[in-house]
Amino acid sequence: MRKEQALLFELGAPGRRGCSLPQPDIPVKPLDELLPAKLRRGIPLALPELSEGELVRHYTALSTRNHGVDSGFYPLGSCTMKYNPKVNEEAARLPGFACLHPCQPAESVQGAMELLYRTEACLAEITGMKRVTFQPAAGAHGELTGMMLIHAYHKSRNDQRKRVLIPDSAHGTNPASAAMAGYEIKEIPSDGRGLVDLKALKELLDDDVAALMLTNPNTLGLFEEDILEIAAAVHEVGGLLYYDGANLNAIMGHARPGDMGFDVVHLNLHKTFATPHGGGGPGSGPVGVKEHLVPFLPVPLVERGEKGYYWKDDLPLSIGRVHGFNGNFGVVVKAYTYIMMMGAEGLRQAAADAVLNANYLMERLKKSYALPYDRRCKHEFVLSARKQKKKGVSAGDIAKALLDYGFHPPTVYFPLIVEEALMVEPTETESKETLDRFAEVMEEIARLAEEDPERVTSAPHTTPVGRLDEVRAARNPRIIWDGDEGSE
Ligand SMILES: *Cc1c(COP(=O)(O)O)cnc(C)c1O
Repeated sequence: MRKEQALLFELGAPGRRGCSLPQPDIPVKPLDELLPAKLRRGIPLALPELSEGELVRHYTALSTRNHGVDSGFYPLGSCTMKYNPKVNEEAARLPGFACLHPCQPAESVQGAMELLYRTEACLAEITGMKRVTFQPAAGAHGELTGMMLIHAYHKSRNDQRKRVLIPDSAHGTNPASAAMAGYEIKEIPSDGRGLVDLKALKELLDDDVAALMLTNPNTLGLFEEDILEIAAAVHEVGGLLYYDGANLNAIMGHARPGDMGFDVVHLNLHKTFATPHGGGGPGSGPVGVKEHLVPFLPVPLVERGEKGYYWKDDLPLSIGRVHGFNGNFGVVVKAYTYIMMMGAEGLRQAAADAVLNANYLMERLKKSYALPYDRRCKHEFVLSARKQKKKGVSAGDIAKALLDYGFHPPTVYFPLIVEEALMVEPTETESKETLDRFAEVMEEIARLAEEDPERVTSAPHTTPVGRLDEVRAARNPRIIWDGDEGSE
């Protein structure tokens, strides 16, 4: 049954305390002497008064009201909600990292600079790029940075190109980032294979095209197998290739965007490299570039000289800074820990296992749900609830029903080219037992959609809250307790 969680203000009683401090063993001045009366408030602050036990129970109860990777399966497609090893947290909390100040002189933060230098080398090797900046705070920020780099590159050649091409399967941040950088967007249709329509692409290519933004594997979880031909065609007209690396989890250690012909990539450390995300960050969206784009990178870059590591900021063509200091450094520490722990072989294996898990689930679920692009997938696949929709059960209803079984739903209604899309990404960190249980539950929901659709359309039944009015929750949030329960 649903239970409202009382607020701290509604709990406790006057005089109750959460701690007991010893009497000070030095003389304490009366309050009047410490703070003049005119500076003191006339009415005491209305703070809740609780025992330590009440307080701990309150926060422990709150902590269990949401779903996270530590509480259960989280197959949110495109988001790579893999398990985040706790050793990453340990490393990021080491005082030598956590207690640094970003304004410290370089000689006093050599260890942190070495970590940035080494992580850059790892990511450059994994992606096939020359240099990497850690400033962007997330994937979308990396995309914007990448578009600014591409703009600076063309500008330096006195070549003012106006257009960026983006497939219709792309993540919504792609067109948003390109538009924010001042580009006009042209959409490329997908073909019957779910891949870039090569003929349509070639028709759109001319010397006004600044770049093609591509995700590979794309958001259908399918590898763009014509990538070499695509890259050659874009380069032929003087355009650049931008790689949205949010899906790198499918191919790391097996194929490199740099070798496919990409000039710029962004990675999501908070997806592929096992650092936590959700709830607003912090994330990290490093951007890697090939040699010809290095002069435009944000400053400063970490360099190694004879006397150790130093900040290099004399890049006259740099786009400047896109973040204070060096981005979200703590996230980089976690990603570095993960990379070191996995090693090259481990990263290769993680990608292979992610692909295996996705194909295993896909083969099983395509019996109860439509699979519009029925091909070998990479790390994720996209089902359609169009069969269930005929009974009045939508992808959104299926997502809500999954909550009753303790699973986080897949991504729904994305990519836009699939009707009633359910995009499933199991990740490599799940066991066969978990995948089997999820498949059983999805089959059960498909059966309910046939036999008792109302049960699915009225879900969830067991969560702390039911179907929220998401628009109202975002537009009219109640963020102040006014003591009047039930008021708006
Ligand atoms: C997550 C994602 C992004 C955006 O990354 P953020 O870190 O959320 O800004 C871009 N493209 C794809 C394909 C993604 O999955």
